[in-house]
Order: sequence, then C-alpha cells, then structure tokens
Amino acid sequence: MITHSECIFCQIIAGEKPAEILYEDPFTLALLDIRQPKIGGHVLVIPREHIENMHALPEALFEPMVRTTKLVTDAVKAAIGCSGINHLIANGKSAGQTVFHLHIHIFPRNSRLGLINYYLRSFLLRRNPGAEELARMAEPIRKKISDMSGK
Ligand code: 5GP
Ligand code: ZN
Repeated sequence: MITHSECIFCQIIAGEKPAEILYEDPFTLALLDIRQPKIGGHVLVIPREHIENMHALPEALFEPMVRTTKLVTDAVKAAIGCSGINHLIANGKSAGQTVFHLHIHIFPRNSRLGLINYYLRSFLLRRNPGAEELARMAEPIRKKISDMSGK
C-alpha cells in the first residue's frame, strides 16, 4: 500500500510538486493533467484526502466530488468549446489506474478519435505539453470556473 508521501497528488496538494490547479475548496481540487489531447482541457478532480479509489470513498465526499466535477465539466466545455466530454475513473491496476489517489478524469472530445488517443495515451499518442503551454491552457478554464462559481 502506497504511503501518502509517495503519492504524486498528495505532494501536489502539499505544495511540494508544481501543478496547474484550477479550483480548490476544503474537500477537493481540480488540476490540469500533464498529458493533454490536442484540444487541451484534460482535468483531474481529486479529493484532498488520500483515498485510493472509488471503493474507499467515504459518503461525506460524494457530494463535494460531484459538485466539483460538474462545475469543472461545465467550465471546460465553455472555455474550450469542445463538442463532448468523457468522465473516466480507473479503479485498480487492471482498470488502468496508475496513480493510487482517486481522480476523476474530465476529458474533452471533438471526435471519436480523441477517446482512442486517450486509451492509447501511455504508449502511442502521448503528448506532454511543457509548463508554459499548461499555464496558457489553464487560464481560460480558471476564469470560467471563477465566473461560474462566483469565487
Ligand atoms: P490513471 O492512469 O491513474 O487513470 O490517471 C493518472 C493520470 O495522472 C494520468 O492521466 C497522468 O498523466 C496524470 N499524472 C501523472 N503524474 C502527474 C503529475 O505529476 N501531475 C499531473 N498534473 N498529472 C499527473
Ligand atoms: Zn495521495
């Protein structure tokens, strides 16, 4: 079992590792994934607490996780003008989970090819934008989240 100090997302939450954080509240955070499709806007929603996956999610976090996911999904669509969005959660290695801190992928789509790229992301069509491009990508989404949440 992974300890919190070895967890990339716990390091980001603690401010020990850089990330483009788009939104945070007392229970959840939304951040840009380092791997992006061409249209950008691939966001992860995570709980602040180190929770391995959906099986371990306490009832008290159901509402905060869905609330943040809904807010960010609407903001991503408005900010980048994609035609569709997938949500994906991998629970366990055999389901493709590679980071063992629960995360809901928000994955923008303009064509069906986008999803194929997503599934092949780790060995075929990976695209890691640099820090500057991620920062540029974050700005309009952050603004929409701020407009929509009134914060
Ligand atoms: P999983 O494969 O567990 O469903 O998703 C893990 C996701 O975390 C991947 O999409 C991967 O690109 C992303 N990821 C891995 N390391 C980091 C990191 O250091 N920062 C950010 N922002 N995302 C990461
Ligand atoms: Zn963690």
